[in-house]
Amino acid sequence: MLAQAGRLVAHVDMDAFYAAVERLDDPGLTGRPIIVGGGRRGVVSAASYEARRYGVRSAMPMFQARARCPQGAFLPVRMERYVQVSRQVMLVLAGFSPLLEQVSVDEAYLDLSGTERLWGDPAQTGRAIKQAVRGTIGLTCSVGLAPVRFLAKIASDRDKPDGLTVVSDLEAFLATVSLAEVPGVGAKARERLGAMGLNRLIEARALGAERLERTLGVLGRRLWELAWGRDDTPVTPEREVKSISNERTLERDTADRELLGAHLLGLSQKVARRLRRQGLSGRTVTLKLKHADHRLVTRSETLAGPTEAAEEVYAAAHRLLGAYSPPGPFRLIGVGISGLGDPAQGQAGLFTARQKGRQNALDRAEDAIVARFGDQALTRAGSLTTLDQKPFKRHNKDEAE
Ligand SMILES: [Mg+2]
Repeated sequence: MLAQAGRLVAHVDMDAFYAAVERLDDPGLTGRPIIVGGGRRGVVSAASYEARRYGVRSAMPMFQARARCPQGAFLPVRMERYVQVSRQVMLVLAGFSPLLEQVSVDEAYLDLSGTERLWGDPAQTGRAIKQAVRGTIGLTCSVGLAPVRFLAKIASDRDKPDGLTVVSDLEAFLATVSLAEVPGVGAKARERLGAMGLNRLIEARALGAERLERTLGVLGRRLWELAWGRDDTPVTPEREVKSISNERTLERDTADRELLGAHLLGLSQKVARRLRRQGLSGRTVTLKLKHADHRLVTRSETLAGPTEAAEEVYAAAHRLLGAYSPPGPFRLIGVGISGLGDPAQGQAGLFTARQKGRQNALDRAEDAIVARFGDQALTRAGSLTTLDQKPFKRHNKDEAE
């Protein structure tokens, strides 16, 4: 009942990526603790391994990091540069398999099934990947190889930095996996499972699929599969992105324009973050509304110039909402952006150059936080805190087409 043989998935994770890029660009930083962060929120976005030795951690307030590591190099987040290096890394990885899926600025999956004749056994393949990244880019990464995707991810984290972990004996490796390592198992689920006496993934087998599902719903069903090492999640190469959108099915149908506006802010932030993560900007903002009777309407506005700023996306979406006169109630709201291209440069849009500079710095700071802690970590003043902190009961759909 274990996972099918013959499949091989790699998870490649760059080591302390932002800090490593800073060192790459300024070799004078070699050996020094590097702390990247700051901005309006004033927290650490990334810390080099040297800095971690002093107890500096991501999300720590910068003043605290300075106190722990006064001799460190404190640098601002340069997201454009990280995206640029990230693209080079992905090009190198694409040389190993066309089935490459980038999941963040410094992480990707590769489906290497059937590449043995090219690259050798899994360990040889892993070493070849690491060598290629180091030789071409000058940075180290940690690689996990496994017959299934989620174990590749867990494996890449086992031996950081500059590590290589090959899961050859699936059953033996599964026995070592704690629930805390399993992607998608959050603190709440862990608490519930902990209360049932579960700490390790394979212990979920004893509970049975039905009980897991009753306790945790869809996650329970998935956990059951994972406990047996089964994960048929494919590695999906990115299609060309034509638009980026986020939508939210509301907990309750609403006609409250203020609440809808707050949702728009949260959604605009997500859309803008995804733009920046992919090094893109967009020109046409689309508002999507679904009436309580499931009637779907969209309204679009094309901006004077391309943008990747949440504020501009939000301003346009909010104008569209204001101009839409039917009172509702609505059951779903969404924001999308199309007309995608390279990052906006020199275009003032709604902002003067200076304001925009400040805005970019703010956006970059947010990107850094989200890159570390996920979308939930962040709320901007004006956005209802519950929007980002309370998971909605109905689905939240992310789509990039
Ligand atoms: Mg990383």
